[in-house]
Amino acid sequence: MAKQVECKEAGIDCPFMLRTESDDELVSFTQQHAKKTHKKDISKADILKIAKKV
Ligand SMILES: [Zn+2]
Repeated sequence: MAKQVECKEAGIDCPFMLRTESDDELVSFTQQHAKKTHKKDISKADILKIAKKV
C-alpha cells in the first residue's frame, strides 16, 4: 500500500506532495524537501504521523 505526504497536512502552505510505496523513501525525500524549502528538520515519527495511506 502506498503512502502519501503533503506539506499542507503539516499546516504548511506549499504544494509539495509525495506518494511512494517505501517508508524510507517517504521519510528521506520529505526530510530533504522540508530542509531545503522550509529550513525545518522533521522527524521520521512526525512524517509518518501526517502520512496517509492511499
Ligand atoms: Zn513544502
